Order: sequence, then structure tokens, then C-alpha cells
Amino acid sequence: MPERSESDSRKLLRRLRDVLATPARGQDRLDSITHLIADSMKTQVCSIYLFRDPETLELCATEGLKKGAVHQTRMKLGEGLVGRVARSGMPVNTADAPSEKGFRYMPETGEEIYSSFLGVPIQRVGEKLGVLVVQSRIARSFSEDEIEALEVVAMVLAEMTELGAFGGDGFEAMHKQPVLFRGGTGQEGAAEGRVWLHEPRVVVTNPVADDPLTEIDRIREAVGVLRVSVDDLLAAESLDKEQKQVLEAYRMFAHSRGWLRRMEEDIQRGLSAEAAVEKEQSAARARMEQVPDAYLRDRLHDLDDLSNRLLRILTGQGRDTGATMPDNPILVARNIGPAELLEYGRKLKGVVLEEGSVGSHAAIVARALAIPMVIHAARITNEALNGDQILVDGDQGIVHLRPDDTVARSFRDKIAMQAEAQKRYAAFRDLPATTKDGVTVALHMNAGLMADLPSLAGSGAEGVGLFRTELQFLIRNQMPKREELAQLYARVMDAAKGLPVAFRTLDIGSDKVLPYMKPNDEPNPAMGWRAIRVGLDKPGVLRMQLQALIRAARGRPLAVMFPFVAEHSEFVEARSAMLRELHREKSLGHAVPEKIEIGAMLETPSLAYAPAEFFAMADFISIGGNDLKQFFFAADRENERVRRRYDTLNLSFLSFVGQIVARCAQAGTRLSFCGEDAGRPIEALALAAMGLRVLSMRPASVGPVKALLRRVDLSEARAVIEAARAAGEASARPRLTDWLAGLPEG
Ligand code: PEP
Ligand code: MG
Repeated sequence: MPERSESDSRKLLRRLRDVLATPARGQDRLDSITHLIADSMKTQVCSIYLFRDPETLELCATEGLKKGAVHQTRMKLGEGLVGRVARSGMPVNTADAPSEKGFRYMPETGEEIYSSFLGVPIQRVGEKLGVLVVQSRIARSFSEDEIEALEVVAMVLAEMTELGAFGGDGFEAMHKQPVLFRGGTGQEGAAEGRVWLHEPRVVVTNPVADDPLTEIDRIREAVGVLRVSVDDLLAAESLDKEQKQVLEAYRMFAHSRGWLRRMEEDIQRGLSAEAAVEKEQSAARARMEQVPDAYLRDRLHDLDDLSNRLLRILTGQGRDTGATMPDNPILVARNIGPAELLEYGRKLKGVVLEEGSVGSHAAIVARALAIPMVIHAARITNEALNGDQILVDGDQGIVHLRPDDTVARSFRDKIAMQAEAQKRYAAFRDLPATTKDGVTVALHMNAGLMADLPSLAGSGAEGVGLFRTELQFLIRNQMPKREELAQLYARVMDAAKGLPVAFRTLDIGSDKVLPYMKPNDEPNPAMGWRAIRVGLDKPGVLRMQLQALIRAARGRPLAVMFPFVAEHSEFVEARSAMLRELHREKSLGHAVPEKIEIGAMLETPSLAYAPAEFFAMADFISIGGNDLKQFFFAADRENERVRRRYDTLNLSFLSFVGQIVARCAQAGTRLSFCGEDAGRPIEALALAAMGLRVLSMRPASVGPVKALLRRVDLSEARAVIEAARAAGEASARPRLTDWLAGLPEG
């Protein structure tokens, strides 16, 4: 069999382009294409298999196999040789297909007479569209050159599919069908809107080019521009060693001769510069999915980023593609930094990320802005197009892209019910959360941004029980200045209009790494050098923050609490630092707070067993339930596998909370609870039943928690919990839920 020349390949691509340019039905186009490919590759068979759904491939056109099999033969991802190509994203090339491992005989196709088989994926930047196959009677392996030629053809088919060339005739154009994504909860809440891509995809409208020399000039020039821009990044002075290392790897790819050479070869075979970049990018993405090593995967990610940059340079499309943001934008991104997310701010109705984590900065910001967020929605940036209809269910961690009407209707019902409930809550906004047996629980809100403060009045919260100060540090590129912080804290106090605000000092480390501080490579950062540990070991930032807080108070009362205190001595030291700053400010002639309360967050079990002196010394204590629970059960709060494994209503945990309540009561120390559980009605009820009288939560939770507390008799709730304990049950949840179901509506 003769070797294929580059001009054969270009000729074939041109013929394919002509097919595309001629008005025809999708099926007719596919039929002509299989005919053209078989003719050009000198094979007896050419078949196109396309995905019917993400798991099923269907034979959609063939030259050489029995026509009756078209639209009848289907296989699952991974099934047979075709399924293997689709799953791996890599070619399968064999001289003797029937004896190949995994071969599946499909009698309706009549393919048993064809011995050699070459299948390549039809894919576009990580998006699997189908498989292109050629088969021959004689038993022979296809050459490298033939494989590459077929890959180039598959690339053009992928672009054509993307452009809707096979739409109609039952071929749904890509990006038209409904898709469901199951991810994780980043922030609860539901929203309906239109997709707004953080990084819009570059649309390649010209996969085939006539003049390879011009295209090669274009790609060389674009790669030149790219290299200069990466070199510029590396020349920045502010880089630390690690950042430099990452950028060096990035630079290595940008300067890689192999990368440019492969793209030039694809151009010689007839692809345009843009399509050549995408082909390489697609191959890298396919490799990325196969690589188990996280480090290597990151490097392949670099290549992906570089390809995107290169495409933008080639097409002149920046981030701004001229699209206008829809009215109800739902941001869809692979990942996003906290500062970028804040820039979008509250105009976003929801956020969907492919990556992210519950404790990521983006999730913290989404929580602060109360924007529903779903994380780990794998491949959504491949599927979603700007303007697509999208439903975000942050409670379940589910996203419906281009939902059909029934799904959209029931989703809207759910949103309406939530809005209805919020209206009901507003009716008793100014009433206290007093239980039927006359116990009043103070409900406070958690905040982290100035933008949260308006919710104070709206939610009916009686104060800010936790102001997380780290957001101000996380969203900047450099350490904020004392004066800036003082102004911000003062504005927070102004906006609270005399209601109490408990400022928590910087809780960095663990998942919260400041972009301008050298990250520490710790084996287990959640239990590492974080929060007050950093504050005491490197007191500069803590002192600056304490000064800012004192100045912000300008004579008003001030409440400050230290995060992650594990033993009495740490609290003593932190408290002394505060008192020292107070003294210093006074001696400088600055106004000092009228009253100062210094508290500790109880987030490690050890602190519950601190000596009585600790409880006596602390002006107040706040249980950081998120951390306390993770350390009580030794279950990482960031790890989807285990984070829901242990119930907050577990009787061991509730007993432990009860012990903390007793120790605080003994010392006469005010106690609150400010983890996420405080905002979940049944959990809040159980905490109140264990003796907590201050709960701090997301503003949106104040209404639902108050509604439940006002309906119940707290001593009865306590009795239900005790009954579960007496019966030796692990959790109080089943009994509490049953008991609540039997109560009259509030
Ligand atoms: C907690 O741990 O419960 C808490 C409120 O602090 P964070 O979630 O910021 O760690
Ligand atoms: Mg905490």
C-alpha cells in the first residue's frame, strides 16, 4: 500500500470542507464524508460513530459495512475496539482486529471479513464526540503517517460537529441537549440563569487551510508572542522560588520544539493554525485524563493553558469576545480566584466550577456573598456555551444545563417555595427565637465582607457572631495596610449600628493560603501551622491587625476572638498581645475601646479540657463547629468521602457539646456556636437543647432556624435526645425527626 503524501491529506481536507460548504442534510454529509475518507485512505471501510449520550456510541455512517447497521449498532463506552478508542482518547491500530483484546463481534455490520482496524477519537479539547474508523481486508498495521493523517481528519470532523454541520435529521447539534452534572455543594441555595463563561472558548471557524506556508508563519509568530509573554512573567521580581519553578515548567512547554513541530506537521496536512493548536490541546487533554500522577497532570494543565493563550493570540480574541453578560448570569469556570469572583460580585446568580473545594477561597467568597455554588462539575466548561439556560442546585450539588421543560418547572417550584418560606420568615423577623417553654436563643450572623452587613437588618440577626477577617487578606495581591483595615473594620462597626460584632483574627494556613506569603509545604495543613499558631510565632501581622481593630473601634466597645486556640497558654499569650497593643495605643494618645472583650474559638477538643483558669479568663468562647467536628471525629471537612460520614447529632458529639456548655456555665463565660451546623434547623435545635443560647449562622438561615425554635418545647427536645442516648442509638436524628413530624405546624 503506498504511503500517503501530505498533499493527499490536504486534498482530502479540502474535499471535506467542500462537503461542509454545500447545503445538505446531516446524514448525507456524513455519508459523503465516509466515502471520501475510504477513497482517500484506500481502505474498504470508513465508519463514523458518534455519541448518543455520554455513555453510548452509535454507528452513524459507513462506507463498506452493511448499511442496515447504521443507527442500529451501538456500544457502550469502553466496549469493543471502538469503545476503547472513545474511552482512552487514543488510537487503536491493529492488523488483526478479531484477535485483539476486547474485540466485540457485531454480526449486523458484516465486519468480520475486515482484518485491519484503525480507530481514532473524534474529540475537541477534552470533549469526546465520537470515533472515526477505517478497516481493511488485508492484515496489516497502519503506518504512523496514516494514523496522523486520520487524526487530522478526525480533528476537522470534530470542528464540523461543533459548528453544527451534522445538525438536523435526528443529529442533535452539540451543545443543544440537556446535560446533568453531579458535583458537590460549595454554597447552598438554588438559582436559575444563563451561562456566563469566565473564560469563553475560542471558536475556530476555519479548521482547514489552503496555504500551509501562511499558516506556518502565523503559528510561528503567535508562538513567538507567547514565548515573550511567558518570559515577561518569569522576569517579574516579586516571584518566590516555588512560583518560579512553576513558571519555568510553563516556559519549557512554550519553548518546546516538539510542540511547535507537531503543530507544523498538522498544518502541512491541511489544518489551519488554530485547528492545529486545538488538535495538540485535545491530545494533551486526553493524556491528562489518563495520568494518575498529580504533578504530571498539573504540567499537562500548563500545556492546556498555553494552548488557550495561543488560540487567543491567533484569533485576536481576548477574554472579551464581545458577548454581553446575560441578566441572570451563572458563572461557569474551571476554577476562579477569590478576587476575580468578588469582582463579579453580587450580580452573579450562581457559580459552577469544575474544580474548587468546599474550603477554597472562591467557596468562601461565594458563601460570603450568599451565591449558590456547585463545585466539581466535571467537564462543564466543555459543555456549556454562553447564554445557555442553567439551573444550579447548591443544596444537592447538582447542575442542569439546558434543562427540559419538566425539570425547569419543578426547579422553579422549588425556588418559589423557598421564596415563599423567606416571606413567612420576614413576618417574624423582629420577634425573638423563643421556644414554647420560654427559652430565648440569640441568633447572630456570620460575615466576612462589608457587603454582608446589610443582611444584618434584613435577616433579623442580633449581631455578628463571627466576622472572618481573612477574606480581606485573601483577595488582595499584597498584605493590606493597617490603615486600610482600620477603615474597613470601622465601617463594619458603623453598619452594625451598635449591635455586637465579634471579629476573629486572621485564620490563615490550612486551606487558606495568602497569595503573597510563601506557602508551607505541610503534610497535613488543617492540623498544621495555621490561625493563632501563625499569629503567635510571627506576631507582626497579628499586632498590625489588633492595632487596626483598636483604632477602628474609636472608643466604641470591641470584641475580638482568636481562632484555633488549643491550650490555655496560647490564649494567655494572644490575650497579652492584645493588652499590650491596647496599652501602646493608649500611650500614643489614641482613643481606646470603651470596653474590650477577648474571646477564644473552641475548635480543638483539647480546649474543652483546659484548666478552669482558661474558662475564667476568656470573656467569651465560640465553638467553631466546622473544625471542632472534623477533629472530634477525625474526618476531614474538605474530603467529600468522609465529611458527611458522621452526624452532628451523633450522641457522643452532642454530649461533648454539653460538657463545653457546662464548663462555660460553671465559669459564667458566655458561649456561642458559629459553625455551619448552627444554621441547619434540626442541628440548631439540638445545640439549643444541649444548652447553647447564642447561635451564629449565614443570614439566610436565621429565618428557618427561628421558625423551628419558635415551634418547639426545648425541654421536650432534650428529652428526645436523652431517650435516644438511653436506647444506645448512635444519633439523635431519627427520633428528633419523628418527634418534629408529629408537632403541629408553627
Ligand atoms: C469553624 O471552624 O466552625 C469556623 C467557624 O471557622 P472556619 O469555618 O472559618 O474555619
Ligand atoms: Mg474554624
